[in-house]
Amino acid sequence: MLIKNVHVNNQAALTDVLITDGKFAQIGPDLTAPAGEEVIDGQGKLLLPPFVDSHVHLDSTLTAGEPEWNETGTLFDGIRIWSERKQDLTKEDVKRRAKQTILNMVGHGIQFVRSHVDVTDPHLIATQALLELREELKDVVELQLVAFPQEGILSFPHGKELMEQAVKEGVDVVGGIPHFEFSTEYGWQSVHFLMALADKYDRLVDVHCDEIDDPASRNLEVLATEALEREMGSRVTASHTTAMGSYNDAYTYKLFRLLKMSGINFVANPLVNVHLGGRFDTYPKRRGVTRIKELTAAGINVSFGEDDVKDPWNPLGDGNMLDAVTMGVYIAHLMGYGQLQDSYKFVTTNAARTLHVTDHYGIEVGKPGNCILLNEKDFYNALNRHVEVLYNIRGGKVLAKTTPAETTVFAD
Ligand SMILES: [Zn+2]
Repeated sequence: MLIKNVHVNNQAALTDVLITDGKFAQIGPDLTAPAGEEVIDGQGKLLLPPFVDSHVHLDSTLTAGEPEWNETGTLFDGIRIWSERKQDLTKEDVKRRAKQTILNMVGHGIQFVRSHVDVTDPHLIATQALLELREELKDVVELQLVAFPQEGILSFPHGKELMEQAVKEGVDVVGGIPHFEFSTEYGWQSVHFLMALADKYDRLVDVHCDEIDDPASRNLEVLATEALEREMGSRVTASHTTAMGSYNDAYTYKLFRLLKMSGINFVANPLVNVHLGGRFDTYPKRRGVTRIKELTAAGINVSFGEDDVKDPWNPLGDGNMLDAVTMGVYIAHLMGYGQLQDSYKFVTTNAARTLHVTDHYGIEVGKPGNCILLNEKDFYNALNRHVEVLYNIRGGKVLAKTTPAETTVFAD
């Protein structure tokens, strides 16, 4: 496949991109296609590596309103409602809903997804369903699964055994939820446990860490210390860390030294964080979001996830990463022109770093020919107009194609 006249990675210059045998073969001006090769006229538009959703829950997707709507909008009511809904889970139910959401994501240019899956279920039904789906859809999407103990590791019956069982069955990443454990001590112990588990089975780590508006929730320092001492930093991710939005600046200053030394990654979920956060405040009302701007300025890797797509924690969601970027740049005060132009990185290159897939991600000669063509010349305009992904290309083949809507205004 030859893609003509595109701005690669938001660069000003126009170039051509040739993909042969499923890999990027040449990137440069005035390339010619070998005989019979498919040619796409990029028309001066933006070519990026595929979007990555670095944090989503596919087991609960498309269950909003079942058995009831989350009318308070708190994290805790979400957990309670999901706990009821998961009594009715079957493998077919999970696979059908997750597949529908994944295919929708693919239509929006996503090719890499990290999904948490609730393992506080004695039968691990959702885990087995998503493991099967990971295999069945491997030509469409690279799906990473996180063993996520929604109701705690030490605070749920046989929590440790369920975590280890999920890892043995093949999940890629070890998760946690220390702020939700019964006690601070259980929270710390859960972090020590999950890091040892990941180390033992050579897995990545992604912890729901301090997702609460409580400045006393400080599991992040425990996670970062473990990551530093085990030399696992680049393989470890702290998701949410919304308590950091409530920490005092003196503590945060000290904390940042450790975070930088540890080299861990961060995932913010701007849509769901701002929706679930601040729910116990009257006024002033906190934003409930981690320090995206300051982490980024400190050279720490931050990516964005959609977190929830129509489930007990988020009644909305359409699998479109532009939604997460739009919300993220607004609530993190990243609205400078350069910051807006660069904001695609939160859902592309930064997110690939979080997923630890940079060895086969990006528009570079020799790497798999995966890319997306957005219907604008640069990311500032793409974000502003929330444009379509015209082509989602995987291994040099068109995986999804979108025809833009056309509006005609009848006015003088
Ligand atoms: Zn989550």
